[in-house]
Amino acid sequence: MEHKLIDERHCKIVATVGPSSNSPHALALLARTGVNVFRINFSHGDRQAHTKVIAAIRQMEEMLGRSVAVLADLQGPKIRVGQLEGGELKLAWGDEVTLVCADSHSGGEGTIPVPHPEIFEVSSPGDKLLFDDGRLGVELTEVQSDRAKAKVTMPGVLKDRKGINVPDKRLNISAITEKDRLDMQTALDAGVDFIALSFVQHPDDIAEARELAGPNARILAKIEKPSALEYLDDIVKAADAVMVARGDLGVELPPEQVPVHQRRIVRTARQYGRPVIIATQMLESMIDSPVPTRAEASDVATAVYQGADAVMLSAESAVGRHPQTVVAIMDRIIRAIETSPDYRSAMAQFTAEPEKTTADAICHAAAEITDTLHCHAIMAFTSTGSTVKRLSRSRPSAPIVMLTENPSTARRGALYWGVTPIVRTDINSHEDMMETGKSVAAELGVEKNARIVITAGVPFGRPGKTNLLQVTRVDSDEE
Ligand code: PGA
Ligand code: MN
Repeated sequence: MEHKLIDERHCKIVATVGPSSNSPHALALLARTGVNVFRINFSHGDRQAHTKVIAAIRQMEEMLGRSVAVLADLQGPKIRVGQLEGGELKLAWGDEVTLVCADSHSGGEGTIPVPHPEIFEVSSPGDKLLFDDGRLGVELTEVQSDRAKAKVTMPGVLKDRKGINVPDKRLNISAITEKDRLDMQTALDAGVDFIALSFVQHPDDIAEARELAGPNARILAKIEKPSALEYLDDIVKAADAVMVARGDLGVELPPEQVPVHQRRIVRTARQYGRPVIIATQMLESMIDSPVPTRAEASDVATAVYQGADAVMLSAESAVGRHPQTVVAIMDRIIRAIETSPDYRSAMAQFTAEPEKTTADAICHAAAEITDTLHCHAIMAFTSTGSTVKRLSRSRPSAPIVMLTENPSTARRGALYWGVTPIVRTDINSHEDMMETGKSVAAELGVEKNARIVITAGVPFGRPGKTNLLQVTRVDSDEE
């Protein structure tokens, strides 16, 4: 086998694909440098192009000989200003402006068309509206069903079609627009592994997505609205994975609140055993610069110390000047932290109780045995991957090798903390599992006679049945 377990990171790298990285050559280079999950951002580009990129990733994956996941990120209900008279409007501090519920408007000086009745429905005086990623803002003073008066609190020049953030209220809109439905279908047809929902406000949004995407799709909730924070536990439980989407979160909340919530979201995700990605501006300066700032290195380090499953690159890998270097640097930072003296104790600080199921008790025991006996690997046989997700949740001190006959399961494993996915289709019995567990450990560089833990389910091949744990040694029948 090409790679060795000892070389594997725990924390995974998600890289957004864009003009800087969408050629087959660039994708292969990035995967070799360390990308575990490619993110396709459906806010940009067209469906045909996305389908092509996903096909290229699958082809590349075969040559690479390692499972790589694809995350399709849907735009969600991004709300925007309409067409302004003359294309722009200067907002001076303290100015009074009128918002009208229309796509364009020639209401004269100080009129902003806002083609979203849902905003007028729920807003009340005192609420804030932010424009252009939070660069500009107003506070509402009077609200009617189709218009509102507001005072400018953050001045600047507002341009046509800039985004609007409504931090104070939960809007009565679905997290899935008409465009999202079509994008989702394209993504599912192309065989992506995760669908990311933007601007989730409530667990119902996840249910709606599941209904549309079908039972086999895995839904990732992007946490980027204050209302999602309000329902955080239920959203995390309803979703298959979560993302701390700090870009929009930092628009809707003051910046000092972003790290506070990052910590809480990571804890909640770890508690329920949902993989969590820390996203946005991690190595932002590397869009142009070939080196990161010290603060950026420290930001990635914080995510790793918190036990995040993955850290994400957005513009850095999509449109940046140094896509390969930025992945290499991220990889180096993660490795530096994971081999630092404080790292293990940081992982052990947060322990989540097992659920009262056979599988969870076994996962918990596997992690404890691994610590006590200094086992070198946990070899986990799984069909759906759910056992491995639970093993990963306990952040054990040895690498987790996911052994599965299902390539989709293996791909999803690419996102999980500490998991090395391997596809094996030649397992037919309990004996096969034990033999393969040992031989794959040896192939992955676990030294002879080192202890390993094997978890599996009997009878073999029935999903959701992990009920067996064995401690053994590589290349040995003892113990
Ligand atoms: P976006 O999501 O890049 O799709 O907006 C991430 C974020 O808001 O941080
Ligand atoms: Mn966002």
